[in-house]
Amino acid sequence: LMPSIKGDVNIEQVVFEYEPGRAALKGISLHAEAGQSIALVGHTGSGKSTIINLLCRFYDPTQGRVLVDGFDIRNVELESLRSQIGIVMQDTFIFSGTIRDNIRFGRLDATDEEVERAAKAVHAHDFIMSMENGYDTEVQERGNVLSMGQRQLLSFARALLADPRILILDEATASIDTETELKIQEALKTLLKGRTSFIIAHRLSTIRYCDKIIVLDHGRIVEEGSHEQL
Ligand code: ATP
Ligand code: MG
Repeated sequence: LMPSIKGDVNIEQVVFEYEPGRAALKGISLHAEAGQSIALVGHTGSGKSTIINLLCRFYDPTQGRVLVDGFDIRNVELESLRSQIGIVMQDTFIFSGTIRDNIRFGRLDATDEEVERAAKAVHAHDFIMSMENGYDTEVQERGNVLSMGQRQLLSFARALLADPRILILDEATASIDTETELKIQEALKTLLKGRTSFIIAHRLSTIRYCDKIIVLDHGRIVEEGSHEQL
C-alpha cells in the first residue's frame, strides 16, 4: 500500500488518445504542489475530464507519465492510489438510504459524532436537522427531497469525512440559490484546506479561490497562472 502521501502531483508531457490518431491531450505538463488547488477551465471537449481520468487511472497515458509524490502511478497499486483520491462529481451521487449512511459512504467506520462534525463543518447540519428525522431521514437516489445545493453539501461532508489527500471536484453547473451558494463557497474552503485539489470549475468565485488556473483548449494548456495573473 501507498503510505500516507503528501499529495504532490506531477503530470509530465502527457499525450492521451482514446482512439488511435486522435489525441484528447496533446502534451500536458502540470505540477500541483501538495496542498495546492488547481482550477481546470476550458470549452467542452478541451480535455478537463480526460486529465481527471488519467489521474484516477481510469486510463493510462499514451505518452508521458503521472507522478504522485514522485511515484509513477502506473507502479502504484490501484486500490492504494484510489484510497488517496476523493471525487465529488457534478451529478452528485446520492443513494437510497439515510442521510447518515450517505455521508458515511467511504468511511463506514465513522461514528455518529464524526458524521455530524463533518456535516457541521460544511454547513449541512442545519438543513439536515430541519428534516423530519434528521440524520436518519431516508432519501432516495432519484428523489427530489434534496435540492441540488443540499446534495452538493452532503457530498462535501462525505468527502471531508473520507479525508483524501487528493480531491477532485467537478463543480455543479446547476443554478443554486444565493444562500446555499454562499454556504457552498465556505464549505469548499474548509474542504480544500490541507489537500491537493483539481477542480473543474464553473463559478468565478471558485476559480478566484484556486492557487493556479489552467486554461485548456483542444488538449493543450493555453494559459496558466493565478487569478490575478490571468
Ligand atoms: P466538457 O466540458 O464537455 O466536460 P472536457 O473538457 O471534460 O469537456 P473531455 O471529456 O476531456 O473534455 O474530452 C476531450 C476530448 O476527448 C473530446 O474530443 C472528446 O470527444 C474526447 N473523448 C472524451 N471521452 C472519450 C471517450 N470515452 N472515448 C472517445 N473520445 C472521448
Ligand atoms: Mg468533462
